[in-house]
Amino acid sequence: MQSDQHPTRLICCLTSPTARQMRQDMETAAARGADTVECRLDYLDRLPDDAQLERLLKEPPAAVIVTCRPTREGGRYDGDEYARLRVLCRAANLGATVDIERDVPVAEALAVANAARQSQIIRSHHDFNAVPDNLDQLVAEMEQSAGTVTKIVFTPSRAEDGFRPLDLLRSRSRDMIALAMGEAGIVSRILGRKFGAYGTFTTLNDTASTAPGQVNIDLMRNLYRWQSINERTAVYGVVGCPIAHSLSPAIHNAAFEAAAVNAVYVPMLVQSGADNFNRFMDALLERPWLDWRGLSVTIPHKEAALAYVGPANCEPLAAMIGAVNTITIGPGGTLSGRNTDYAAAIDALCNAMSLRREELLDRPVAVLGAGGAARAVVAALVHYGAQVTVYNRTLSRAKALAEEFFCTAKDWSRVASLEAQVVINCTSIGMHPGVDDSPLAQVPPGVEVIFDTIYNPIETKLLKTARAAGCRTVSGVDMFVNQAVAQFETWTGIQAPREIMRSVVLKKLQS
Ligand code: NAP
Repeated sequence: MQSDQHPTRLICCLTSPTARQMRQDMETAAARGADTVECRLDYLDRLPDDAQLERLLKEPPAAVIVTCRPTREGGRYDGDEYARLRVLCRAANLGATVDIERDVPVAEALAVANAARQSQIIRSHHDFNAVPDNLDQLVAEMEQSAGTVTKIVFTPSRAEDGFRPLDLLRSRSRDMIALAMGEAGIVSRILGRKFGAYGTFTTLNDTASTAPGQVNIDLMRNLYRWQSINERTAVYGVVGCPIAHSLSPAIHNAAFEAAAVNAVYVPMLVQSGADNFNRFMDALLERPWLDWRGLSVTIPHKEAALAYVGPANCEPLAAMIGAVNTITIGPGGTLSGRNTDYAAAIDALCNAMSLRREELLDRPVAVLGAGGAARAVVAALVHYGAQVTVYNRTLSRAKALAEEFFCTAKDWSRVASLEAQVVINCTSIGMHPGVDDSPLAQVPPGVEVIFDTIYNPIETKLLKTARAAGCRTVSGVDMFVNQAVAQFETWTGIQAPREIMRSVVLKKLQS
């Protein structure tokens, strides 16, 4: 096993066009928290001569890995192989750790290794198309080759392939970097530290990436709290498609930090389809050593989540709504499901109206929309006895929803003349980027409260109109924070740092 003398290195890849710029970027990366930099010589305009290389590597502010990746391995160097290996020998001689690809013949690899008297040699293999068929055999062979560190990087075809590098890390016989590329591989980049990887790669900024899925160094340190991850860290995440712009990693990681919970929360891209969701869940539960304790579930997997967990293991209203957005994984892999959306919506409304949930009884409420959000809102309102009317562009969907929950459906053309005390917008009208749109041009007479479930923008055109008309307003931010607070408290059993969670969401939405 790995000596574990060093914690997993936070390596920042440098892709500067000149050696002088690369040295400056090295200083910047170290100042931003990288303990190691990777100088990608293949990104330079030309290979550095001896003097340039010496200046680049002299008294570096962080440990240095030197790589000159040839085009055949996904890099940019297409020049003479002898010149490439000569620069690597020279870099090793100057004390840098050097990366040599697996396909470099033994004699040449040994020549570079001999030059590296004090430093380390990384033997690497990259597959930009797939997970190698013979992955375990390949890694076993690489672990026998000249060098001290094995680096294996591949391209997942499914979400669960993101766990494969972690399997390799657990069975390694020497120092190892194992990573999956792309969005599905982000989990392997973040959790490498939990499983004692030699290092993980980050970028200085989002345009300087050398492989798909690399996370920039500020996000790795500030969002995923790299320094606080250790072998006891519990894992949570959000499953959805798309997932890149989810606010959930920001809100939950900030909450874990504020509440001093040793946990990290990661985004998991799982393609649409119950088969994909089920396979991902099977793969996760087959790996209890991941210490995965909970999942937020978002579009399009909420129905599949209910089916996977089983209605009997879910709160009754989640089963009635037909959607689970919160999965808790207990000891032995037992699962339970909740829907924190409905309670989040009801509580946001009740807070604004200074009511208890039971006081919604007989209040006339107009719900605009008949999609997933409307379903949760209608089920909860009906449960607490409100008089609900559903307005939807596609009338048949409004009718189906109303029939299921014993309320009324009306045609979208009648929305301007609706009669209700409360209006709840559950359509996507007014959502970024369509911020100039609104489901209501004016507030109909008698309406006292308008709740827009949209949280981006924070104040939609509908809410501006409502505020100008003197109505009480409720924003989707309240609902979003409420559902995250409920998830946090379900998972950890401790009170959520609500104000911090709210300020994280507002900051993200305002940036
Ligand atoms: P969904 O299932 O796709 O439903 C979208 C709804 O919007 C449908 O009823 C659709 O009507 C209607 N719609 C879309 N474009 C329209 C248009 N141009 N004119 C009239 N109606 C239109 O989406 P969802 O998951 O329910 O989400 C809906 C909204 O809720 C989103 O804006 C989302 O941001 C918000 N939401 C907020 C939270 C929170 O925590 N704050 C949580 C979940 C959702 P048709 O049936 O005719 O297509």
